[in-house]
Amino acid sequence: MTLPPAASPIWHPFTQHGLGEPIPLVTHAEGALLHTADGRTVIDAVSSWWVTTHGHCHPRIMAAVAEQAQKLDQLIFAGWTHEPAEAVAAGLTAIMPPELTRVFFSDSGSTSVEVALKMALGYWHANTPANGGTPRHRIVVMEHSYHGDTIGAMSVGQRGVFNQPYDPLLFDVGRIPFPAAGAEQETLDALEALCRQTDTAALIVEPLVLGAGGMLIYGAETLKAMADICARYGVLFIADEVMTGWGRTGTLLACEQAGVVPDILCLSKGLTGGSLPLAVTMASEAIFAAHWSTDRARMFFHSSSYTANPIACAAAAANLAIWREEPVMECVADLGRRQSAWLEKLGRFCHFDNPRALGTIAALDLRTRGEGGYMDGLAPELMAFFRSRDILLRPLGNTVYVMPPYCITDDQLDEVWNAIGEAVISF
Ligand SMILES: *Cc1c(COP(=O)(O)O)cnc(C)c1O
Repeated sequence: MTLPPAASPIWHPFTQHGLGEPIPLVTHAEGALLHTADGRTVIDAVSSWWVTTHGHCHPRIMAAVAEQAQKLDQLIFAGWTHEPAEAVAAGLTAIMPPELTRVFFSDSGSTSVEVALKMALGYWHANTPANGGTPRHRIVVMEHSYHGDTIGAMSVGQRGVFNQPYDPLLFDVGRIPFPAAGAEQETLDALEALCRQTDTAALIVEPLVLGAGGMLIYGAETLKAMADICARYGVLFIADEVMTGWGRTGTLLACEQAGVVPDILCLSKGLTGGSLPLAVTMASEAIFAAHWSTDRARMFFHSSSYTANPIACAAAAANLAIWREEPVMECVADLGRRQSAWLEKLGRFCHFDNPRALGTIAALDLRTRGEGGYMDGLAPELMAFFRSRDILLRPLGNTVYVMPPYCITDDQLDEVWNAIGEAVISF
């Protein structure tokens, strides 16, 4: 089969090249705005895939990157360390729950999840019968979850069209239903039944909001009840806050709203303010202690070439300084109010389903003649419509959500929501 000629050899992620969608070339950005080579200014209403928190090219973060790039570009991190990594680790342990005493670096949300799963299994391996414990290996996951696209992360995520070809390689997990309003008890009962099985090692969840699963929001009481069940059975609680962390849900961590402290915490996306790829998996002392030994065979066998890259760490250290010294939470609260106000206002004028908001995230479902869900045919049409309005929105099927950088201005946000209003009426 001969394919039509392409303008570029690049194979883009989550892109069907056969549909011939335009792929805009972006030259620079600031705040909530992207500038394209053909002279358009586009409002980035999805924070460039949920990563940009304070805004594009934040001066403090860019200055830190430029400065670090003159000093130390890269360093092997097995047995060596550097100032930016130490600053990030110290900064994190100062603002994250004090129970999370250890910081392990990696490069992306997916790898932070792989690390979390390996830590959990390593913890239980250290407790094998030979060591006087019980081996546990089962991971419990929530339906509609997303934890990344590597094999382990896919294994603990929702199965479907995205991972069907790889299904034979994905490991078995225990599944609990999404705690939809009114059906929370079913989720808790399913979790308790799985926790009673003595081989259950850990639960991994996206706290309060399932992002890629369609911006599905559930209550803090349910999150707290899930954590309590895990604690009762000694099952490790892994919070994947890769998307929900860094103020996105209105608090630094979503877990905070439920008064939950996880055993293992995954952070990425907003860790560098969304400027460079970096992730951490934070762990409790017990998880670290299970790997601590004078026996080299029991060390934590995980690394990647660029673990804790100094330049990425400098960006994260600058982000932490911004959180310490600037009124980020006020900005987050203000954006949350503006988002909710728009959702309510739109609801008075047009029809859509399931309006929902948490912190800086707002979402609604358009009525569709299609099958709904991620593959709903409405998504590409909507994307093209928003692109024609110079707005970057990327609906999840028939779910339209707005997740902007915290610095988005009133005028810019109005433009985004006016376009959504137009879309709701015309589709
Ligand atoms: C984006 C995301 C990931 C994967 O992060 P990458 O950096 O894209 O690998 C994992 N978990 C959640 C909840 C996410 O939203």
